[in-house]
Amino acid sequence: MTPSLDTRPAFDARPVFDIRGVTKSFGATAVLHGVSLTVPVAGTTVLVGPSGCGKSTLLRLMMGLEGADGGTVTFEGDPVTAGDLALRRRMGYMVQGGGLFPHLTAAGNAALMARFLRWPRDRIAARLAELSALCRFPSDLLSRRPAALSGGQRQRVAIMRALMLDPHVILLDEPFGALDTLVRHDLQDELKALFADLGKTVVLVTHDMTEAAFFADQVVLMRAGRIIQSGPVAALVDTPKDPFVTRFLTAHR
Ligand code: ADP
Ligand code: MG
Repeated sequence: MTPSLDTRPAFDARPVFDIRGVTKSFGATAVLHGVSLTVPVAGTTVLVGPSGCGKSTLLRLMMGLEGADGGTVTFEGDPVTAGDLALRRRMGYMVQGGGLFPHLTAAGNAALMARFLRWPRDRIAARLAELSALCRFPSDLLSRRPAALSGGQRQRVAIMRALMLDPHVILLDEPFGALDTLVRHDLQDELKALFADLGKTVVLVTHDMTEAAFFADQVVLMRAGRIIQSGPVAALVDTPKDPFVTRFLTAHR
């Protein structure tokens, strides 16, 4: 057998996000106390932890929607600075709660970024047709406003919006928040399959450990502005670094 001369790693070793020692306070309230984390290429990283532990804030810092007080965030090798729109075009974001505008149609909401970038009408229409097939959103509902859609359909519109510009990474903040159990399970199954098909890097925020375990290649367990442990779920189960890890895992069985 000829030995392989290819010494490259099996996957791109450079992380998509490299977060080092990030601190953040709002007024007198310290929310992140020196968070360090790398997000590898083409897998799903789940930020999980109790409500109020700083997940959404960390996600917003990763996108430059918020500035850090200390530490650094890089995205694909570029430093993330608050307000940098060029970097954000490579990131698809689904805000907690979906963030749909009630006065815009499903199409208007999904195409928000493309409109902002002044894509021509036919390009927008073509992309919307692609996305409604991909996200299983019936195209005859594209002219409806959010109030005339079901909860699951609204989530699909929010996902279409996040995918509109064909971003390198998709960041989703509690994407199943307000859905009833059956709709949530269907959408979770579909979205997991979609992520696998797209082969993109995904960062998903949830307070639900069961959901985290379902999606994660890597879970990042947070508590009170700190990362307690990160790694594959099995590693947290087998070798918990802190009693909190076991408590959090068993609370969601
Ligand atoms: P999580 O997403 O884990 O529920 P958040 O990141 O939303 O947590 O919030 C973490 C903490 O920061 C909470 O105590 C919250 O009240 C506080 N916080 C978040 N955003 C702001 C803000 N803009 N101003 C003041 N406090 C904030
Ligand atoms: Mg949150």
